[in-house]
Amino acid sequence: MVRYVYDFPEGRRDMADLLGGKGANLAEMTRLGLPVPPGFTVTTDACRAFLTTGAEPDGMLAEVSRHLSAVEDAAGRRLGQRDDPLLLSVRSGARFSMPGMMETVLDIGLNDDSVLGLAKASGSERFAWDSYRRLLQMFGSTVMGVDAALFERAMTTLKGMRHAPDDLHLDARDLAELVEAYKELIRDESGEYFPQSPAEQLRLAILAVFRSWNGDRARIYRRREHIPDDLGTAVTVQRMVFGNLGPDSGSGVAFTRDPATGRSGLYGDYLPNAQGEDVVAGIRNTVPLAELERLDPRSYEQLLAHMGTLERHYRDLCDIEFTIERGTLWMLQTRVGKRTAEAAFAIAAELADEGLVSADEALARVDGDGLARLMFPRFDASAAGEPLAHGIPASPGAAVGAAVFDSAEAVRRAAAGEKVVLVRQETTPDDLPGMIAAQAVLTSRGGKTSHAAVVARGMGKVCVCGAEELAVDTGARRFTTRGGTVVAEGTVVSVDGSDGAVHLGAVPLADSAVMRFLETGERSTGVVPAVVRALEHADAVRRLEVRANADTPEDARRARRFGAQGIGLCRTEHMFLGERRKLVEEMILARDGVERERALAALLPLQREDFTDILEAMDGLPVTIRLLDPPLHEFLPDRTELAVRVAAAEARGERPDPHEQALLEAVGRMHEENPMLGLRGVRLGLVIPGLVAMQVRAVAEAVVARTRAGGSPHAEIMVPLVGAVEELRIERAEVERVLAEVSEESGIAVRCPIGTMIELPRAALTAGRIAEEAEFFSFGTNDLTQTTWGFSRDDVEAEFFAAYLDKGVFLASPFETLDRDGVGRLVRIAVDEGRAARPGLTIGVCGEHGGDPDSVHFFHAAGLDYVSCSPFRVPVARLEAGRAAL
Ligand code: PEP
Ligand code: MG
Repeated sequence: MVRYVYDFPEGRRDMADLLGGKGANLAEMTRLGLPVPPGFTVTTDACRAFLTTGAEPDGMLAEVSRHLSAVEDAAGRRLGQRDDPLLLSVRSGARFSMPGMMETVLDIGLNDDSVLGLAKASGSERFAWDSYRRLLQMFGSTVMGVDAALFERAMTTLKGMRHAPDDLHLDARDLAELVEAYKELIRDESGEYFPQSPAEQLRLAILAVFRSWNGDRARIYRRREHIPDDLGTAVTVQRMVFGNLGPDSGSGVAFTRDPATGRSGLYGDYLPNAQGEDVVAGIRNTVPLAELERLDPRSYEQLLAHMGTLERHYRDLCDIEFTIERGTLWMLQTRVGKRTAEAAFAIAAELADEGLVSADEALARVDGDGLARLMFPRFDASAAGEPLAHGIPASPGAAVGAAVFDSAEAVRRAAAGEKVVLVRQETTPDDLPGMIAAQAVLTSRGGKTSHAAVVARGMGKVCVCGAEELAVDTGARRFTTRGGTVVAEGTVVSVDGSDGAVHLGAVPLADSAVMRFLETGERSTGVVPAVVRALEHADAVRRLEVRANADTPEDARRARRFGAQGIGLCRTEHMFLGERRKLVEEMILARDGVERERALAALLPLQREDFTDILEAMDGLPVTIRLLDPPLHEFLPDRTELAVRVAAAEARGERPDPHEQALLEAVGRMHEENPMLGLRGVRLGLVIPGLVAMQVRAVAEAVVARTRAGGSPHAEIMVPLVGAVEELRIERAEVERVLAEVSEESGIAVRCPIGTMIELPRAALTAGRIAEEAEFFSFGTNDLTQTTWGFSRDDVEAEFFAAYLDKGVFLASPFETLDRDGVGRLVRIAVDEGRAARPGLTIGVCGEHGGDPDSVHFFHAAGLDYVSCSPFRVPVARLEAGRAAL
C-alpha cells in the first residue's frame, strides 16, 4: 500500500523526492538529535494524486489523523483544544527549493474558543489575538481566496484610527476587533464562514498548499529555474513554536558561512519578538545575528553548536531558520544554502582544504553557470564617485539600468529592450516577473535573507537590499535619498551587488579578476585561486577535449589562453563579412568562368593569410577549417532594396546603372524562399566550380607557409551540410586533388584529415555510410536542431517560443540546451553507426550546445571526443566536461 505520511524520525535527507527538501531535512535534523518541533510530512505522491484527480487520495486523511494523534500524544495536548491548544504550521516543501513561491498557513487550530485558551496558557491576550488574526489572514487569502490586500487595508485602517505607527502598538482589544473584521471580510468575500473545526482547517490548508504548486508565482519560478512541472510539493505539518511571545523570544535566519563570499563565520539576521515570516518578509529591520550573543547567550551558544553539527554533517554551507520561544531554541529548517558563484568556488576550495570533501566533490559543487557569472565585469571603483546610498550587498555583480518602481513596469520596459533596476521597499513573490526582467533589484528594507536577497541570489541577479537611507515612494514612482536627492522613474542608476553601493547614472565597468586571470595568468586575487583549482582538477579528470569556434587570429589566441585545445570550427564565411563581402557576392553572382575566376583569385590570398595566422596562433593544435557555408541571404544584397533603388532611378528618368540591373537580375535568379534550406554548404561547393579548390588551396598553402616557418600546423578540412555520402565523396575527391597539387608544387606533403559536419537528420541516419568518406564527424547541432524540429533558427526568438516555454513543451530552448530525446537520439545513432563503420572515428560538436553545461554532460555520455564553443565559453566547457566525468 502507498504511504502518504511520514513522521519526521521516519524520513531521511535523501528522501527529498518524496518528502520535499524541507521535509527531508527536518527528518535529518530530527535524526541528528537537534531540537525540531515534532511533526510529519505529507508526500509529493499525495500532491500529485490530488493535482491529477482534484481530490485527496484514499487513505491520506486517515493517515494524517493517525500521525496527528502521535504529535498530540507527544505534546500532551490536542489540536485546538479549548485550554492550551496545540497549534500547527502547514508549509510547502518541494524537491527543489522555491522560496516563497508556494503557500504556508500558520496557527492552524485557533478558533473562537481556543483563542481564549491560548491567551490563558501563554499569559498574553495580545499574543493570542495576534495569532488568531494571522491565521485568519493567511487562511483567508490562501485557502479561501480572499484578496490579501483587503486584510492589509483593514489593518492599516485600524492602525490609523488608533494612531499606531506599527502593529506592535495595537493591543489585545484592537486585535480582537481586527479578528471580527477579518471574519466578516472572509464571509463577505468568499460567501463562507471561516471554519471553526481545527481538523477541517488542517485538511483545507494541506489541500491549499497542494494547489499552490500550480499557482502563477510557482509556475513562473519553475520556468525560470527549469524545474519540471510534474514533481508536486510535499506538505510539512509541524507543532507551532512562537517567536513572538515577548523579548525572550524571536526568530532568525542563519548561514554557516557568508553566502555572498563563502568566508566562514556566522552570518544571519535576528528579529526579537517576531515570527519567522516577519524576518523573511523584511517587514521590520533585523539585527545582525551576533547581537543574539548579548540578548540570549545560552541560545546563541546552542545555535552555534547546532550549526557546527549541521555543517560537518552536510559537509557544506547550510542555511537555517530558527525560533527561540521563551528562551528555548528550536530548529525549524535547514538546507544546503543557496550561494553566489564566488561563494560556491570559495567554499568548495575551503572544504577541500579542511579535508571535509574530496577534490572530486569540490568540483561537483561548482558549475559552469557560476564560472560564467564570475567572468562578467564589475564596476570600476576609481570611476564610481560618491554613492547615493549604501545597502546590504546581497547578490554580487554590477548592473546599470533605469529605476522602475513596480514589477509590471519592469516587465514592460524590459520587453521594449530597456535595461531596468527594480526598486521596492521590499519584494514579495508577486514581484517575481519584474525581478526576472530587471538587471538588478534594490530594496530599502530587509536583510541578506529577505525575499529579494534569496530570490536574486538564486537567479544570479544583482541585488542590494535594506538600503535604509532611501525613502521609496512607489505611488509617486520615485525614491528620495537622505541627502534629499530625488530619483524619479526612468533615471539611470548603477547598483553594485558586491559592495552594496547605489550610484546615480551609469558607472563604467571594470574587468573581473577571473577574466584577468584567463587573459594574463594573474592568479593571486580574490576568488581566483579557488577557480584555478576547480579548473585544474576539471582538466585532470575530464575525457572530453575542449576546442573553440574561432574565425580570426585574435579569437584563436584568446581561445588558446582560455585553455582551448584547438579550433573545432573556423567558419570561413565569417572571414568575408564587412568589406570582403563584396568578393563573395561577385563569386556567387559571376555570369561566366572568367568573372568567377577573377573573384576567386581575389579571395585566395586573403584566405591564405587568415589561415596562416590562425594556424600560427594554434600551432601544434588541430584547426578544423570548414568550407564555405553562407546561407545566401546573408551574403547577397537585399532584393527589395535593390529593386527599389533601380525603380527610383528609372522614375527619376536616369539611365539604369548596368551593374545594379545585372545584380538585380542575378539576385532574382538566385532568390530562395528558404535560404537556410537552400544553396548552402556542400551544395555550394558542388555547383560553383573552383570554390572548393580555391579554399583548399588557401589552406594547403598556409600549411606549407607554416611548415616552412618551422611551425607545426594541423589543419583539418570539414565539409558542411552533407546529407548523403555521395556529396561528400565528390567533394572529397576535389579536396584530395588540390592537396596533392599543392604538395607537388611545394615539395611539402600536405596531409589534412577530411571530415564532415553532421547537421541534417539524413546525415545522422546514414552516418555509417558517410563515415566511409569522413575521417571525423562534427555535429552542427544548430542546424541539426533546426532541421529535426523544423524550427527556423532565425525566427525562433519569436512569440511562440515563449508560449512553448510557458506551456512546458520544453523547459529550455532546444537551441540553447540540446534536446536529448530527439536531436540527442540522432547524435547517438550517428556516433554508434559512424564508429561501427570506422573504428576510432574522431567525433566532436561545434554547434552552440558545445558551450552549454547541460549539453556538455550529454556529449560526454554520448562518447564524443570533444566539444567546441565560443572562446568565452571555453573555461565553462572545461569545467563542465570535468564535472561530467565525475
Ligand atoms: C551548426 O549548424 O551547428 C554549425 C555549427 O554551423 P553554423 O552555425 O555555422 O550553421
Ligand atoms: Mg550549420
